[in-house]
Amino acid sequence: MIMIEKKKIILTGDRPTGRLHIGHYVGSLRRRVELQNDPSFDKIFIMIADAQALTDNADNPEKLRQNVLEVTLDYLAAGLDPGKVNIFIQSAVPELTELAFYFMNLTTVSRVQRNPTVKTEIQMRNFEANIPLGFFCYPVSQAADITLFHGTVVPVGEDQKPMIELTNEIVRRFNSTYGEVLHEAQILLPDNQACMRLPGTDGKAKMSKSLGNCIYLSDPAEVVEKKIKSMYTDPTHLRVTDPGHLEGNAVFTYLDAFCRDEHFAKYWPEYNNLQELKDHYTRGGIGDMKCKMFLCKIMQEMLEPIRERRHYWEQHIPEVYDILRKGTEAARTQGRQTIEEVRAAMRINYLDDKELQKAQMEKYYPTE
Ligand code: ATP
Ligand code: MG
Repeated sequence: MIMIEKKKIILTGDRPTGRLHIGHYVGSLRRRVELQNDPSFDKIFIMIADAQALTDNADNPEKLRQNVLEVTLDYLAAGLDPGKVNIFIQSAVPELTELAFYFMNLTTVSRVQRNPTVKTEIQMRNFEANIPLGFFCYPVSQAADITLFHGTVVPVGEDQKPMIELTNEIVRRFNSTYGEVLHEAQILLPDNQACMRLPGTDGKAKMSKSLGNCIYLSDPAEVVEKKIKSMYTDPTHLRVTDPGHLEGNAVFTYLDAFCRDEHFAKYWPEYNNLQELKDHYTRGGIGDMKCKMFLCKIMQEMLEPIRERRHYWEQHIPEVYDILRKGTEAARTQGRQTIEEVRAAMRINYLDDKELQKAQMEKYYPTE
């Protein structure tokens, strides 16, 4: 049996179905940028999940063809350093498909049917009775994505929780069936409740590329301002003097996600912190537009350096492809190594198994 030394390895990624938005940023991307400088991590793999995106975009590969680059530009813009992380393309690592195929035998249809994220996504996409089989199986494929790299830490948004749970179930099943080869992974959720599942500008439950309610990391300053000005707040807060409500008020959820005390000192010194502003808003006496303009200043401060870095990389596309090539090569090297370990544990490595061959020879041609 092969035992692999447990290292701290990050695996996470995004579907190339559109540019990345501030929900991605607070849900996972910001954390990756921090962790790339943490020396306790041995390796960081960031996957552009094009094969997963095909599961519900099979008829539109062009969308993915364009967005692999866009997502990579967003990564570099957000501050991911290609010297510290491996950015790679999922479909270019065929070992992922092989591992997913073996994993399919270690879980059940009903287990995937109970997955709450998959349930919501099936509804959102109106699949009803025509769920593509590949889409249905994507949580299993995601388990392969994590384990092929021996990922031990997975920084993601809250919607990914059921996927990590399934991954760990499959890992336990694999290890108890074939031997201790794979490691369980730990989900790393954002530490701020508002960032777990950032709502859309329309106040809907989740900012999502597919729902058109996003502020993109690459939106120009004037677009960001326009989107913030038309954001959903509190429909009962009609006059400035009316008491306002915070629950479901997207502006305040964004403030929870992005605002720090120093922003008040800089942009709105009338208050010391968010709690004071919230208290005043709920008592009544503050207009929504003032809060939106404050939020806008905070967002622009955060987004400006991201836009600048993006602009630089947009002028260096061949280098961006070199980064992808290098990251994918590193991912393949790791993938080939793990799949060999997996095959050996499953005892399906017949061609390399000299002991098996010798025993079989002896069965038919006893040497003594
Ligand atoms: P799609 O609509 O194509 O599924 P998406 O916007 O949901 O796209 P994904 O690529 O599925 O984005 O998600 C990538 C990562 O970003 C995941 O870790 C997910 O948890 C996180 N994430 C996505 N949207 C949000 C959000 N609104 N708030 C917090 N995290 C998010
Ligand atoms: Mg999604």
